[in-house]
Amino acid sequence: MLIVQKYGGTSVGTIERIQNVAKRCVDAAAKGHNIAVVVSAMSGETNRLLKLTAQIQDDPNDREVDVIVSTGEQVSVGLLALAIRKLGGKARSFLGHQVKILTDSTFSRARIVSIDAEPVKAAFAAGEIAVIAGFQGVDEGGSITTLGRGGSDTTGVAIAAALGADACEIYTDVDGVYTTDPNVVPDARKIDRISYEEMLELASLGAKVLQIRSVELGMKYGVPIHVRSSFSDVPGTWVVPEEKEMEQVVVSGVTVAKDEAKITVEDLPDVPGVAAKLLSALADGAIVVDMILQNQSWDGTTDMTFTVPLGDRKRAVEILKGQVPELVGKDGERISWDDDVCKVSIVGVGMRSHAGVAKRMFTVLASENINIQLISTSEIKISVVVAKKYAELALRALHAGFGLHLPPSERGTL
Ligand code: ASP
Ligand code: MG
Repeated sequence: MLIVQKYGGTSVGTIERIQNVAKRCVDAAAKGHNIAVVVSAMSGETNRLLKLTAQIQDDPNDREVDVIVSTGEQVSVGLLALAIRKLGGKARSFLGHQVKILTDSTFSRARIVSIDAEPVKAAFAAGEIAVIAGFQGVDEGGSITTLGRGGSDTTGVAIAAALGADACEIYTDVDGVYTTDPNVVPDARKIDRISYEEMLELASLGAKVLQIRSVELGMKYGVPIHVRSSFSDVPGTWVVPEEKEMEQVVVSGVTVAKDEAKITVEDLPDVPGVAAKLLSALADGAIVVDMILQNQSWDGTTDMTFTVPLGDRKRAVEILKGQVPELVGKDGERISWDDDVCKVSIVGVGMRSHAGVAKRMFTVLASENINIQLISTSEIKISVVVAKKYAELALRALHAGFGLHLPPSERGTL
């Protein structure tokens, strides 16, 4: 078999842990598998490098910043290759440009264009384990790029896709994907199998185990992803194409995201083009708007509420004041905002075929006296915005309310 293993920062955080990873790689290779290993920087290293650069300038979208922050992974691959060799294995390290992970030139969050699998295949042919630096790539002009925080997951899945690997194992410090954050809800359960689509929603809605982009790639190329712990041998969570039985489970997971803010603009004229104008101003400022809600108009005016990343809230208000004063008032007097909100979501492919999911969600929240400020739905998720102080309470109540502490077969129907 051909297996790609990806190890995160905590799994390679010390020399001892790197030796532990080396042992896993050597053991897997001894079973006759071809192994490509993708590694992150040692834990804390990328943050340390970013802090160094921030002392000189704080714009991360810069060629030189990527030159600096990509070095953490260079150290990891070298150390791991040495550790494998010490155990009697054969290994060769590769930096992003040496496997030719070609990306666009969006520094700090580049997207992969193509990968040249030949150097890795040559390593396999020589009986070597290929040790590949995560997170980094190279653009057309030869500049080093990086793939965004958590980008080594994406490197792992992309390499697996390029090699046509049988699986991409993502080794991390938790033993899989849970029904919710086990730090908040102690009886959260590990999920055995989950569809790409659900995982994509969970990752976008606050679950931090996998970088979103890696799930997108896995889905696009059909790479089975196995999220598991580097500290044990227990099976983790498989992220795979949707299976028939998955529809039986109404809700697979509950998440909370605390990094959004809510903005409301009151008394907008209820005529064509207003929403386009307002949202264009934000889009031109590269602000990503998430939920959007517009009220029914009774008197020719309407209110619009939307959410933006918390870190962009201030800039969003400034942009609206500057770009569309005719809509928001010259001093922005029609704009109000709330930074103390969170988005709580339930996700499950079973929602497509089960009625009453929203009813259950809202009933559970009501029974805890949690006021719902905004609602948005897709085919497989329902999200609500509530006051941030209810984040944990809402998570616990919904987890229990949908019986997620029980094995899927015992959850019953609604
Ligand atoms: N080292 C990079 C980061 O911390 C990439 C990764 O670990 O996935 O974001
Ligand atoms: Mg990670």
